[in-house]
Amino acid sequence: MEEENIKCSFCGRDKRDAQVLIAGISGHICENCIVQARAIVEEELDEQITQKLQINIGSLKPADIKRHLDEYVIGQDQAKKVLSVAVYNHYKRITQKLEDDDVEIEKSNIIMVGETGTGKTLIAKTIAKILNVPFCIADATVLTEAGYVGEDVESILTRLLQAADYDTAAAESGIIFIDEIDKIARKNDNPSITRDVSGEGVQQALLKLSEGAIVGVPPQGGRKHPEQKLVQIDTKNILFICGGAFDGINKMIARRLNTSAIGYKSKKAAEFFDQENILQYVAPQDLRAYGLIPELVGRFPVLTHLNPLDKSALRRILTEPKNALVKQYVKLFEMENIELSFDKKVLDYIVDKAFEFQLGARGLRSICEVMMNDAMFDLPSDKDVKTFKVDLDYAKNKLVKSSGNKLKVA
Ligand code: ADP
Repeated sequence: MEEENIKCSFCGRDKRDAQVLIAGISGHICENCIVQARAIVEEELDEQITQKLQINIGSLKPADIKRHLDEYVIGQDQAKKVLSVAVYNHYKRITQKLEDDDVEIEKSNIIMVGETGTGKTLIAKTIAKILNVPFCIADATVLTEAGYVGEDVESILTRLLQAADYDTAAAESGIIFIDEIDKIARKNDNPSITRDVSGEGVQQALLKLSEGAIVGVPPQGGRKHPEQKLVQIDTKNILFICGGAFDGINKMIARRLNTSAIGYKSKKAAEFFDQENILQYVAPQDLRAYGLIPELVGRFPVLTHLNPLDKSALRRILTEPKNALVKQYVKLFEMENIELSFDKKVLDYIVDKAFEFQLGARGLRSICEVMMNDAMFDLPSDKDVKTFKVDLDYAKNKLVKSSGNKLKVA
């Protein structure tokens, strides 16, 4: 093509009128058309994400989400119900096509309060899996304000972006789970007495993210620096779920309950409330008393609790979930063509030990690993073994041998 005949193949603009004309194999494109094309691509990608969400959510009602959760998470009915509704509403909100006079639905970020190892992370992770949205976990204890040693709060977004395979639009509708949120609580309820700003800066940063902000994120992580290429992420549709054990919050809840029950002179508050599980009465003001700043508590309007796991819950966790531990070991042995089974007494024994040493559900796994390690080491090389039954003697023997070093099982 002769120099003077060169035109933008999209809008027909002459080379002389264009500031930039990029040549392809058999055509050209000018700067205006590039800008327009980019806008079209972004809109199309957003639309695809919305459609994908609509497909994933569309047919799922809160009861369906809960039913899926039931396959993986034992007990915790209240939390599962509250989360199913919150997540359902959240994604309804994202896929809502806003007309001018529409009621805008607000985001429903969530806080889960419950002892460690009761299933907080598991619930959040399972929900992300059900909805097929990007998901990442951040530990609040390592987060710091920008500029301090540690991880910037915004670095969480890098992780979400990575979980979304660098698909910005997908990341923008993902779920972030922040664990140990209680560890960034202000140490003192009254900031004027002693200045304790340790966690407060992090809370402020988190507040900004959870409210919705456009944040420049270094795609590979690390600190931001001037020459670095940043990806802009809008956090307004990212769902934040926080979890924490809030050690000692029981006392604050009890104090509040006692105060509010003072009117009933004849009976003590203790008679009104289930003293065994005070956590079920947790309210936003308790989180504030614990040291979360009011603005942050306000940004997380959905508050729910998880119950401590009793023996019967632990026993069910061992065998019932879709990927229950026992099922996993059976599968592993099946791959070696060995039929593995456990005596029922062994399962009770594992539960007893996990309970006795207050190892919770996480302890089940460590106990099983110690118990099964020798078998997993030896049996794959032994071609004659076709079945393997773990009985109580075997289990005790393996655990006692490891006593003192790993599990202190006697
Ligand atoms: P948390 O976040 O509350 O500290 P996790 O969700 O990480 O606890 O739980 C740790 C592990 O314990 C999970 O991976 C899971 O295997 C098991 N677990 C805990 N609670 C439950 C539960 N309610 N149902 C099934 N498994 C559970």
